[in-house]
Amino acid sequence: MGVRTLGGLGERGLIARLRPRLASRGDVVLGAGDDCAVVGPPGAGEELVLKSDPVREGRHFAAGEDPRRVGRKALARVLSDFASMGAEPRWALVDFSAPQSFPVAAAEALYGGIDELARRWNVAVVGGDTSMSDALELHVFAAGAVPRGSAMTRSGARPGDAVFVTGELGGSYESGRHLDFDPKLDEGRWLRRRGVRCCIDVSDGAASELHRLADASRARFSVRSELLPASAAARAKADPVRSALRDGEDFELLFTVPSGLAAAMERDFSASFPGTPLSRIGEVGEGGGVFLDGAPLPDSGFDHFSSD
Ligand SMILES: [Mg+2]
Repeated sequence: MGVRTLGGLGERGLIARLRPRLASRGDVVLGAGDDCAVVGPPGAGEELVLKSDPVREGRHFAAGEDPRRVGRKALARVLSDFASMGAEPRWALVDFSAPQSFPVAAAEALYGGIDELARRWNVAVVGGDTSMSDALELHVFAAGAVPRGSAMTRSGARPGDAVFVTGELGGSYESGRHLDFDPKLDEGRWLRRRGVRCCIDVSDGAASELHRLADASRARFSVRSELLPASAAARAKADPVRSALRDGEDFELLFTVPSGLAAAMERDFSASFPGTPLSRIGEVGEGGGVFLDGAPLPDSGFDHFSSD
């Protein structure tokens, strides 16, 4: 019997069904299925990087949340995907939907939050759309660039690589970090220049992102629970390892490096980014799947169509 609803199919099931049917062109370098799309206008020394992402009241922020933080988060989520490609974001379009009763001052505060982060990263907000809806919703589309052929992707991991993650994992909702995080754009570009080929940002939870890397790279990812950098908010919970692996919206960078280069990369990264913790959490091997302390780790991260 076929699955009839999105809830039954799940987000990844839906994407797997739709992806092969999407229209394409010869200048698409990397289509749907990575953190950003990469497209290559002929003759340029760089490729264009494209990404869009929504935030919705009740899903990505609570009703009544400070509108400045909501606006900031909407752009920050997209910039985090640019970070994971090692790309430079340049232009953004913002679609804004809100009820008729939404205060003008709140709309201005919301755009103030977008503006603050856009200026910080030299991103121009060049338009978009405003419309009416039942609940507050922001859709941000951004475009930028990466030197030709150098974007970090989900498929770049190879057996023998070491697995790293920046920052700390878990408890992002409890700590409020999901609203106030800084996208790791400088770190992402540093890693790309350093020759890192495989990277993803942690939006749906580290376990889920490890599966995305394992699937795209057709490799086996093995991580050790005692090496996971659980945040203070995660450590305050009943199961800190589960929190670190499943909570989501950490917006850290998860990447791999050939093990022979790992020690030098780790040393130089820490010298360049003394405020950004870096943890070596495991390794890439032959095969497939994700393993935690030697046992298979189920792929049950955040699903946008599931009810839990
Ligand atoms: Mg992402």
